[in-house]
Amino acid sequence: MNALSKDQTMSESTTLETTATNKLVGTNLRSRDFRTGGVFFEVAKPKLEYAWDTGKAIGKFLTELKKGKIVGTYCAQCKRTLVPPRMFCELCFKDIDKWVPLKDTGVIQTFSVCFITWDMKRVKNPQIPAVITIDTVHPPEAGSLDKTTPGGWRGGGFMHLVKVKDWKSLKIGDRVKAVWKPKAQRKGAITDIKYFEVIK
Ligand SMILES: [Zn+2]
Repeated sequence: MNALSKDQTMSESTTLETTATNKLVGTNLRSRDFRTGGVFFEVAKPKLEYAWDTGKAIGKFLTELKKGKIVGTYCAQCKRTLVPPRMFCELCFKDIDKWVPLKDTGVIQTFSVCFITWDMKRVKNPQIPAVITIDTVHPPEAGSLDKTTPGGWRGGGFMHLVKVKDWKSLKIGDRVKAVWKPKAQRKGAITDIKYFEVIK
């Protein structure tokens, strides 16, 4: 059975057959055949809803966000905290050793100042997406700047929005703290953190 959406258009001369299949015996279908009911076909409207498994590590990360907490995982071999958490360390490929609670504070690694929204609308107050290294409380050495690693950054972090009164005052290295949504509004998503604000 052929499925053809209503929006799909074909010129009279266009057939569904390709050059290769034209070598086969049979009669090519024309768009007229669909309009006049010359062939059986069905217009399908697929219901494109699906469930996405977050996996063990991100699943717990999101569950904890709903509680207003940031958690990571820890690799004892590399002495590094992974946030967002992963179940294995991508440097040594070992399974992680434990889950670690993290603070909701961090440091801006880099940021952009955007005067255009994702759908190309100009805005007066810019959006500031930033990569933020999250502070670790345990172990203290993980997640801090480490000169032995290219890039000098062994800890973890993620991208989020930063809100600041005067974007011109924002600097790489500024300390920030998460501003959470009220508990009732949290859904177990990264947006449970509304944004990060600069702390001194
Ligand atoms: Zn490791």
